[in-house]
Formats: sequence, C-alpha cells, structure tokens
Amino acid sequence: MNTEIGTDLNKALTLLQSGQTVGVPTETVYGLAADANNDDAILDIFKAKGRPTSNPLILHFASLTQALPYIDVFPEIFQKLASVFCPGPLTFIVPKSSLVSPLITGGQDTVAIRFPKHPTLQELLSALGRPLAAPSANLYGQLSPTTATHVLEQLTGRIPYILDGGACWEGLESTIIGLENERVLIYRHGGVTTEALAEVLGYSPAAKVHEHNGVLTSGMVKHHYATQTPLFLGFKPSHENQNALQITIGKNELITGPHLVLSQDAALTEAARNLYAALHEADAAQVLKIYVEPFPNNGLGLAMNDRLSRAAAKFAS
Ligand code: AMP
Ligand code: MG
Repeated sequence: MNTEIGTDLNKALTLLQSGQTVGVPTETVYGLAADANNDDAILDIFKAKGRPTSNPLILHFASLTQALPYIDVFPEIFQKLASVFCPGPLTFIVPKSSLVSPLITGGQDTVAIRFPKHPTLQELLSALGRPLAAPSANLYGQLSPTTATHVLEQLTGRIPYILDGGACWEGLESTIIGLENERVLIYRHGGVTTEALAEVLGYSPAAKVHEHNGVLTSGMVKHHYATQTPLFLGFKPSHENQNALQITIGKNELITGPHLVLSQDAALTEAARNLYAALHEADAAQVLKIYVEPFPNNGLGLAMNDRLSRAAAKFAS
C-alpha cells in the first residue's frame, strides 16, 4: 500500500467513510483514526499499529452532544471538568452504551472519550457526523508522533493517507481520568496537569498509573513510548561525550558533544511540545545512547517523566 501525506480533508473523509484508516492531527499527538461504527476498520487500526486488541481505544467526538448516545452516564463532575478543559487534552472513562463495539473497549463495559481541539480534526468529525476511534499513530510501544512525517516514518505502507495538520502544539498524550468512589483518579498523566484538575475539583486527584490486574491503559504498561536507541534518565558521563546524545530542558553550557535543548527558556509547555520531536531526532542521530535530563515532578513534568521512565524501563537491566 502506498502511503500519502496531504492536506485534503475531503480525501480523508472519503477514506474514513469507506472504512479505511487515516492518520489525523490532534493537539496532543497524531492519531490513527477509523470509523468507530465499523468493526473491520477498527481491526485495521490494531493491525497497522501491531497493538494487542486487549488495549482499548479512545473515541473522539466533535462535542458532548455527539457523544451522549455512546455513553450511559456522564457524571456531573465530568461535565464541570469538560466545561473547563474541553475541547482539549482530557480523556474521560465512562460506562459505555450498546452502540460502542467491544472491539473498542477491549471487552470492558467502560469507554474512553475525548473532544479534541485541533480545528482540522474538529472539522473532520463534524463532517463525518460520527465518532472516530483513534489511538496514537505509532507502532505499538514506540515513540508517539507529533508531525505527519513522524507518522510516515513508522506507518508507511500500512495506511493509505496521513492528513497533515502541522506539528501538534501540546505534544503529549491526553490526561486520562476516571471516577471511583466519587473521586476523580488519573489513569495517565498528560496535557491537563494534576494542579489544573485540582483547581476545579477542590482536591488533588490521586494517580493510578501502575499496572495492576492486567493492563488497563498504555500509560500503565511498563515499557512504552520507547526509542530504538537505549535511553537513560540523567546526564551522560564525560567518557561518553561523543557517542551519546544529551537532551536538556533548557540551555546548558556544560554539555559537550551531541546535545538537544527542549526550550531555550526551560519552559515546560515548550519542552512538552518538543519532547517527542527531540526523541525522534535523537533516535535518528546514530548515537549509542540517549540521556534525558529529568523534569521537575510537577505540572507537565509529571507526564514527561512518566513517558521517559517507561521508555528507559525498556533498557534497564
Ligand atoms: P493511545 O491513544 O494509544 O494513547 O491509547 C489510548 C489509551 O486510552 C490507552 O492507554 C488505553 O488503554 C486507554 N483506554 C481506552 N479505553 C479505556 C478504558 N475503557 N479504560 C481504561 N483505559 C482506557
Ligand atoms: Mg499511544
């Protein structure tokens, strides 16, 4: 199969309507989308990514009104959060209705729903008039894509079309939340910070991001979001200067040899936007190792440390 990159929204729409998978831009990372009401198309998502079918997909809607037939309840506290953060990088786990295929939920009776903010995807969802199932448009376990070219690098020959909407401006996956015993829990750290959620909730939501009783979310898988080049958290030792690439949050005059800076001003939002692109670049740099300076453990730093520690776990002996 030939994979094309373009900006033709109608082409993407026609392909999706005919049951094909399409790479689509979102504000978080690029998604691999298919008509959520077409089981064959959904199976093609798993096939293209090499993703186990037990790992459920997020349903994307233009609006809450569009989502209501697909869910059983949307709790009041989620409505409050949605009014503040949506459209945007926040995913809600809610009880599903019978309209949602078990292929999407990995057989669970809950479904993950999100309202993406990217104008191109909003337009596509409105024109389609039905939800898109879309995980990140990467091969299972590998780096997430934040440009159309990143998608092409991993999925070329596996999907017909990538709709180019420019570089993703958030650059990190959505925050996934659920409700247990009347309390909001974070299942995956992401673009909406714990602090921002706490401001609306009046309490700091606990995180439940580790594997337990089988895998629930990618965020809970120990090895994930990984580079091909061995990756470590920290600073490269001086004897590895030329053979290892260092990624730092801000400028750092002490680093010699290959070095990438995520944000000249060490701003976390800019660092988050650039993180995956830097990891893609580092992975292509033909070095033996990649070192990444750990982020402060708050705000977006939590989500970035989470991704990096799961990437590094692949190489820990
Ligand atoms: P991705 O879009 O590739 O980042 O993956 C979507 C994430 O949402 C995965 O981590 C899924 O496991 C998670 N997810 C989807 N549906 C559910 C659900 N019903 N319960 C818990 N997590 C879910
Ligand atoms: Mg993913």
